[in-house]
Amino acid sequence: MKRSLMLNAIDPAIGGVLIRGDRGTAKSSAVRALARLLPDYDAVEGCPYRCDPVVPSRYCDECGLRAKERTLPVVRLPMRIIDLPINASEDRLVGSIDIEAAVRAGTRRFQPGVLAEANRNLLYVDEVNLLDDHLVDVLLDAAAMGVNVVEREGMSVVHPSHFILVGTMNPEEGELRPQLLDRFGLCVEVVTLTDIDERLRVMELERDFLQSPQAVHKVSAEREGELRDLLQAATDRLPRVSLPDAIRTLVARLCLDGSVAGHRADLVVARTARAICALRGGPVVEQVDLVDI
Ligand SMILES: [Zn+2]
Repeated sequence: MKRSLMLNAIDPAIGGVLIRGDRGTAKSSAVRALARLLPDYDAVEGCPYRCDPVVPSRYCDECGLRAKERTLPVVRLPMRIIDLPINASEDRLVGSIDIEAAVRAGTRRFQPGVLAEANRNLLYVDEVNLLDDHLVDVLLDAAAMGVNVVEREGMSVVHPSHFILVGTMNPEEGELRPQLLDRFGLCVEVVTLTDIDERLRVMELERDFLQSPQAVHKVSAEREGELRDLLQAATDRLPRVSLPDAIRTLVARLCLDGSVAGHRADLVVARTARAICALRGGPVVEQVDLVDI
């Protein structure tokens, strides 16, 4: 679970992760803890969608216009986790256009929604299997096109919508629609611990925390600092990690043997293997990185 989250932080193109498991196995806690490890990124200052200054093809309309006049100011921002509550309204998800203001003052006023906040961030849906069908469709559309289109009464707003999708669910409460399942790059199963010593460790951690929260925070902060450095180093290394033809062939062979429909799996497996290689500090993907998946 932790590794799958880290791999997505290293390469968001992996396509997110679905975490399945029993209630009370710290699935949400692990996702929220990732927020403290996520790398910073460059964004256009003042842009509500935090456009990437070096990717003009993904600029929002406003950044596109501003870029014609002058060099866009850049600001460094931390990657964030944006929650999508399963009972959110469609307006909350996609944003809303203030029609009244448009009619009254002739101005286009757009209230950004969760998809705007999630652009270039991580979009987290707890109990994703219980998400309303209509919201699922909107989410899939935005994820597929990389843009969010809002249309109301003949007015429309379009803005970039690229996000890492992370979902958690308890399969006992219902399965996920196949179309949505297909959108997650990785899927991990979390099981309840069956080892007595490991279960004791959980209780001891809670006892330690209740006795001295500061001491536990101090130890965690040190460990988090190490992990953040590790992630940053892996993120920096990733563009230089090479994937030999022999490994690529092996990926295709594995997916073929697994009777996988389509080719998305080949791409995700190859990407994940590269991220694993970057995380262990290697320059070239080896068989061990594939086996690790
Ligand atoms: Zn922008």
